[in-house]
Amino acid sequence: MGMKHVKTVACTLCGKQYDPEQVVYTCDEHDGVAGILEVVYDYDVIRERFEATVGGPIPNQWKYRAFLPVNETAEIVTLNEGGTELFDAPRLSDALGVRTLIKDDGRNPTGCFKDRASSIAVTKAKHAGREIITCASTGNAAASLSGYAARGGLDCRIFVPGDAPAGKLAQPLVYDADVLAVDGSYDEAYDLSVAVTEQYGWYNRNAAINPFQIEGKRTVGHELADQSVARGEIPDWVVFSMGDGCTIAGAWKGLREFYELDFIETTPKMLGVQAAGAAAIHDAFYDHDTVDDVAETLADSIAVGRPRNTLKACRALEQSGGASVLVSDAEILDAEALLGRTEGVYAEPAGAAPVAGVRTAREQGIIDADETVVVVTTGFGLKDAESAQKAAGSVERIAPSIEDVDRRYGDEQ
Ligand SMILES: *Cc1c(COP(=O)(O)O)cnc(C)c1O
Ligand SMILES: [Zn+2]
Repeated sequence: MGMKHVKTVACTLCGKQYDPEQVVYTCDEHDGVAGILEVVYDYDVIRERFEATVGGPIPNQWKYRAFLPVNETAEIVTLNEGGTELFDAPRLSDALGVRTLIKDDGRNPTGCFKDRASSIAVTKAKHAGREIITCASTGNAAASLSGYAARGGLDCRIFVPGDAPAGKLAQPLVYDADVLAVDGSYDEAYDLSVAVTEQYGWYNRNAAINPFQIEGKRTVGHELADQSVARGEIPDWVVFSMGDGCTIAGAWKGLREFYELDFIETTPKMLGVQAAGAAAIHDAFYDHDTVDDVAETLADSIAVGRPRNTLKACRALEQSGGASVLVSDAEILDAEALLGRTEGVYAEPAGAAPVAGVRTAREQGIIDADETVVVVTTGFGLKDAESAQKAAGSVERIAPSIEDVDRRYGDEQ
């Protein structure tokens, strides 16, 4: 037995248990991929093995290896993901009217927090002797997985919606993945990847159905708890954008674990942010009627019509005493420009959406003026330069002459 710290893998709907040493995806008692599985740990074993100092430095996410569902003897495939800084954002705080800190996860190796999960996916696939790994993605998971597959020497075959931003389609090609741009939505690309996994037996990294992937996303929660101890204050709110909902659920699980292990005294409330045009988790959380399958937003990373992890995401919001808000594309673009202008942080639209969410939550009285907020910017701006231009405008063209500069700045002299 190589994973003594993993007790079992259990269905979130019916509780049926599966062997954690096997490659399992969803519970076979339910239709399609409804039976999402949850990894259950033995915290006595974890406590014994976790020797790092909470509140100390975080070189990368493998500080929390004792918590991660990988075999003790597995050779880790890493690009040094995680360990992203949590820092004060005074100018952004002024603009939002509430004390705000940034955890910039766009600084991960492939430009997105999904590297936390990809590192685990490739580590596990390799340890299981698999040679081909696949996923469906709105763009970032594909780019991320491709990078880690290259690092680990695995073959990577990915399914993305054909209209993903150019930057996200180019990146996996550089990592030498097969990029299959599906003529259809993310949801259709997703279904196809599941069918392919069943037919060809490739290792599937889709976070929502691969119960181990979401576990990597816990490390952003571990880090937030760890950094809160170092700073001597726990934020009132932690804000994530939501697509499939795996990220916010994983982050919450990490925070809750550190609370239950007495590393932190309280937990923050989770604020989930969705685009108004792709609002299924928000609608489920507030029992609104859901318009199925609609995903209309330029924030492509959260353009998900049928989120695969609504249940886990809603539990995170509920258990943390949190809330959910919707933001428009115009608000997301404003937030992208605001982040760049006030703090020098360049985020892609889904990465900036939490900032728009804070503004909305302040307006709706969800976040109080005297509270402290952490926005997690999940993806780097260069991934989607086209949206950035929509957010920040275009360049001024001038002749190579001092007169043109004078026309612009002469009055300042
Ligand atoms: C994937 C992604 C999200 C959403 O994560 P989910 O787990 O799908 O909710 C948010 N931001 C960025 C940049 C992403 O790539
Ligand atoms: Zn089940």
